[in-house]
Amino acid sequence: MQVPPFSLTKQLSELGNDLEVAVSRVIQSGQFIGGDEVKTFEDSFAKSIGIDYSVGCNSGTDALVLALRALDIGIGDEVITSSFSFFATAEAISAVGAKPVFVDVDPCNYLIDLNLIEQAITSSTKAILPVHLFGCPVDMKTLNAIAKKNGLKVIEDCAQAAGAEYEGMAVGSWGDIGCFSFFPTKNLGGVGDGGAVTTRDAGLAKRMRELAVHGMPARYLHTQLGYNSRLDALQAAVLNVKLPKLKYWVKKRQQIAQRYIDLLEDLPGLDLPKYSSDMNTSHAWNQFVVRVTDFSIKAKETDAPKVRKSLYYDRLNNDNNARDEFKDALLRKGVNTIIYYPIPIHLQPAYESLGFSVGDLPITEMLCGQVLSLPIFPEISEEQQEYVSLMIRNLFS
Ligand SMILES: *Cc1c(COP(=O)(O)O)cnc(C)c1O
Repeated sequence: MQVPPFSLTKQLSELGNDLEVAVSRVIQSGQFIGGDEVKTFEDSFAKSIGIDYSVGCNSGTDALVLALRALDIGIGDEVITSSFSFFATAEAISAVGAKPVFVDVDPCNYLIDLNLIEQAITSSTKAILPVHLFGCPVDMKTLNAIAKKNGLKVIEDCAQAAGAEYEGMAVGSWGDIGCFSFFPTKNLGGVGDGGAVTTRDAGLAKRMRELAVHGMPARYLHTQLGYNSRLDALQAAVLNVKLPKLKYWVKKRQQIAQRYIDLLEDLPGLDLPKYSSDMNTSHAWNQFVVRVTDFSIKAKETDAPKVRKSLYYDRLNNDNNARDEFKDALLRKGVNTIIYYPIPIHLQPAYESLGFSVGDLPITEMLCGQVLSLPIFPEISEEQQEYVSLMIRNLFS
């Protein structure tokens, strides 16, 4: 059996020809930029988050940039975030001229360690940018309290967490601004790039809408330097078909995550994701990420192809990586897994100028050497999951 890490094949057949009808409606209409599809999507997306304003844009990365710009964050400012995330989180902070300040993560839920935020605050700090990594919501009540006490803004990176809730409130409704991505592999994916910002503040919404269209509040009047960052009508039409399914897809992801937990929870050497499901907290499971802490390939497999060292271990000059051996052994059984993320942001070559060295963020660095994402998508079958689990069990016994 071959199990892909992610697949849209079944979803496409379940949506029938709704997507094709929607796309062809846009083509017939000739309205490719703005228009009803975009307006309809923005309104229904805002409603699904439980707030008044949503503005579509070109990507999740642009959503972060628009949010930072709308809050007047720029040169000389610092933004606190985590280094265990997709690169775009920090890249957006740098793109507006500000400095990303990395705080280590909690080894249990992989999210920004709330106990370490206050000691990272300086007179230059303007905002906290928590990442709801893998779909797991950050404790936004505590984070907002820290921000309020210190006069800081909050921008939520919700790129992986569409459909997640903390204490009954959607992510993207807790901070000053929420930033979403509709990259095809996210929980709500378009057929290309797309993104959106969400806010309760009419002024911020207006500012972001203008920034996304060349800082242009009225035709050919430019009041600030902006961007060309719109959500295409074609993407909006696709998202209008998919948004009503998001709740159901997240429910499926939760069932799949629970099934993996039931099938794998007694294996020593494999740490399963821990999160608390009380207080109305709803994990959206964009990824199911395990930690391989103790694994050594069995003797009978020693004729297996030599394990390729991960980029991270190349950088650390360390070739004793159990996780990479484990990943390769699974691949030989047809189970395709992905490493999110092999190199922490603070050790990326692009951030050499920040002056970090190995050991500065020990939990983040440890996780980058241990994590592995098992196949998860709403349409994965029970048989596929059982096969994945059996292959994992066989490797440990
Ligand atoms: C995907 C992602 C982004 C960027 O979204 P794009 O739409 O690809 O630009 C930002 N942050 C996180 C955590 C992501 O996973």
